[in-house]
Amino acid sequence: MLFALTTGASYFLEHPPHKKFLSIISFILIFAIGHLFPLDIEDIEEIYIGIPILYLLIFPGSLWPIAVGFAILTAYMHSVGIAEMFDIVEDGLEVIVITTFACVMSFYQQQTKRQMMQFREESYTDYLTGLSNRKKFQEFLYHQVDKTKHIAKAGEGFALINIDLDGFKKINDQLGHQVGDQLLKQVGRRLESFTGKDYSAYRVGGDEFAFIIKSSKNIANKAQSLSESILKQATKPYELTDKKYKISASIGIAIYPQDAFDAESLVVRADLAMYKAKAEGKGRYSFYQQKLTEKTIRYRELEADLKLAAQRDQLSLYYQPKVDIQTGKIFSAEALLRWHHPKYGHVSPFEFIKIAEEDDTILDIGRWVAEQACKDIHHFKAISDIENIAINVSARQLADIDFVDKLKVILAKQKCPPHWIEIEQTESVLMQSTQDNIEVLKQLKEHGFSLSLDDFGTSYSSLSQLGNLPIDILKIDKRFVDHCDTNNKDHMIVRTIIQLAQNLGLRTIAEGVETQPQLEVLKSEGCASYQGYLFSKPLPTDEFEVLLKVQTD
Ligand code: C2E
Ligand code: CA
Ligand code: CA
Repeated sequence: MLFALTTGASYFLEHPPHKKFLSIISFILIFAIGHLFPLDIEDIEEIYIGIPILYLLIFPGSLWPIAVGFAILTAYMHSVGIAEMFDIVEDGLEVIVITTFACVMSFYQQQTKRQMMQFREESYTDYLTGLSNRKKFQEFLYHQVDKTKHIAKAGEGFALINIDLDGFKKINDQLGHQVGDQLLKQVGRRLESFTGKDYSAYRVGGDEFAFIIKSSKNIANKAQSLSESILKQATKPYELTDKKYKISASIGIAIYPQDAFDAESLVVRADLAMYKAKAEGKGRYSFYQQKLTEKTIRYRELEADLKLAAQRDQLSLYYQPKVDIQTGKIFSAEALLRWHHPKYGHVSPFEFIKIAEEDDTILDIGRWVAEQACKDIHHFKAISDIENIAINVSARQLADIDFVDKLKVILAKQKCPPHWIEIEQTESVLMQSTQDNIEVLKQLKEHGFSLSLDDFGTSYSSLSQLGNLPIDILKIDKRFVDHCDTNNKDHMIVRTIIQLAQNLGLRTIAEGVETQPQLEVLKSEGCASYQGYLFSKPLPTDEFEVLLKVQTD
């Protein structure tokens, strides 16, 4: 009875709930056996050493055998009486000592095993999102490849879905890493809601996530519908610092064994598909295709080559004169970046600046531009009375907390006073900007830089915000200039912008002036200055210097 009870209780305590019914069965069984074949004292004496040992085997790591040992000993004493107790106690104590020792040893062994398993589990978990991490991803991927290798039929296989958040770095830079982490956590939670029997989610890098869909029929359809659901979820607004932010994701899908014959190339191909989704405009999914569009390959090559472009002497600055409308004199110039790529030739900044803004490449390029402009203006100043040079600064640069300090260092090194440099910021950047951005602009202005608002009129600035910005110049966007001489609405917009600037005490410059009639309209409306092909295209330094010299002579 006692043995049955202890066994039952041990099993009950030692096993997970679904096995607990075994404890009841074991109790009944042992009780029945004990009842049918009752042992006398001699038999018990023969086997009692074995009982705790038996427990050790059945329940390794349990401390129950100690209790059993004591229980048996107590039962003995009870049944044989105090008189014979001392004989038995001696043997019993031996058993208990041996059992206790074995128990404690096996208890610690099990404990260590459990801890090892916990460590293993932790080493497979991403600390931030709680999703499985890259290590687990790789193991599972190899496992899936092994499993699918021999059984896949046509249309069957497993899918790898590669997810990259669009514009995550911008949020990280503008709002800080803590907010970035918060966003990743929220993304992780949303992705986790898709995990299940067939789908598993992983965080494989900074803002990169992945899904593996287990092998099945119609795998492409499954991957497609999962990607659609992920995109829907991922683009819902995220609540960060009490505000709502929207981001999108680009997804690449590759299927094994249809698209690749091993795990490594499957990863690369899902990546390529993801790049295709990015190159096609982001916020979408794309399947790997053997004949990847030239666009994707170009995007990847440009992305990689851009990091080395400055080092390889492939970058240069062209200068487009800024001209006073009344006097027709060049008083400044905009530095426009040019990249000569060995394979693709001239690559437009409209294309490569976007790529550079995807990561920190833009910071290096921005530094190069500032440095080069500082060097060049010394030459321009030597041959003319040009006031300053304007450089374009992108949102990511402005969000860099050391931006102002870095710029100061560059200027000091090149012996270039801040009023020689004007900084062009696009309107869209400033309008979506946080207080931090405005702070940076204030610092720049205090330091003596002049600031202009580029592409003005394209981002529906709120007028109240405009009044608060520490800017000096409004650049009227080319799209209004284009038809200001033929389209009355555009003419009125140009007039309104110029009046607005005058009321706010700002200077105006019109961009992209190509014809004399456009210039006449701008002049009659009181626009202060202009840039455009009518006067000159952006020029390499030597040609720009010729222009400056002609003007001085
Ligand atoms: P943006 O700052 O608005 O520069 C004006 C663009 O219009 C330049 O294109 C210029 O060449 C072009 N343009 C000027 N006048 C005319 C004209 O009369 N007609 C026409 N059709 N176009 C004209 P570009 O040089 O290709 O630069 C494109 C954009 O790339 C720039 O737009 C600017 O946002 C960006 N970018 C250029 N250089 C840099 C740079 O150093 N740093 C950053 N962050 N962005 C840059
Ligand atoms: Ca500009
Ligand atoms: Ca512009």
